[in-house]
Amino acid sequence: MFIWEISGNTPDRCIRAAEDPIEYTLPGLLQMQMNRKIGLTFATALRAFLRQDPDIILVGEIRDKETASIATEAALTGHMLFSTLHTNDAPGTVSRLTEMDVEPFMISSSLVCVCAQRLIRRLCKTCKQSYVPKGNEAKIINRAIQYNDDPIYKANADGCPACGSSGYKGRIGIHEVMGTSEELIKGINEEVETTELKRIAIVNGMRTLHQDSLYKVKAGTTSMEEAIAAVPPDLKDLDALRGVKSKSGNSVATDSKPRKSRAKSKVKESSKTELST
Ligand SMILES: [Zn+2]
Repeated sequence: MFIWEISGNTPDRCIRAAEDPIEYTLPGLLQMQMNRKIGLTFATALRAFLRQDPDIILVGEIRDKETASIATEAALTGHMLFSTLHTNDAPGTVSRLTEMDVEPFMISSSLVCVCAQRLIRRLCKTCKQSYVPKGNEAKIINRAIQYNDDPIYKANADGCPACGSSGYKGRIGIHEVMGTSEELIKGINEEVETTELKRIAIVNGMRTLHQDSLYKVKAGTTSMEEAIAAVPPDLKDLDALRGVKSKSGNSVATDSKPRKSRAKSKVKESSKTELST
């Protein structure tokens, strides 16, 4: 929904969407329902859209080589294209697209922004219990975000009638937004490892899923236990990165290694993360 808000659904813009299923019917744009039985896939819909010269295209999901290839070409030929794909985190999008045979230079020149998202449980407002984190918990939160020893909250083991005795009620999204930058384009073109792309993105200001989940812990929205279960700590070298940033602005460590040896099994299609490119 937010795509229409940020891109501007006005009469002078031609917007085409290939969806499976169409969840919300929206005025002012054409939404096409996919139907495999008659051969109407994301790839065929995309090809049909390109003949109509739209300004903005949405492809429900990129999950095969054909769709990936046409989507990249569409993005390179003056169309704003939004889509989703399944990876572990935002930088993983690059290797996922490479897996689908998209050339690195095509990815680097067409990718504008990636937002990874995951859902975590919210603490029950009625029965959550405050405490001051110590030991390993304090270490994890201090390393990931700026934390000033304020109390945080944990789930009440017995719960209450409001949360059905679970201690949690509802869910909230955690996000990781990776915008493009000169260093990132260089990294993608040089086929560096996903971890190196992640380092570059962090140095350029990306807040990771792990960090965002801990900001939600700090705000009392969720518990440490839930945050760590959803996204394990991944920032062993964050201090080093901060050091790099403070010394030389946005420069990145130059020990980039080629991604050529990357194992294909690294990308988990079953991952919970969904990305919008
Ligand atoms: Zn409760």
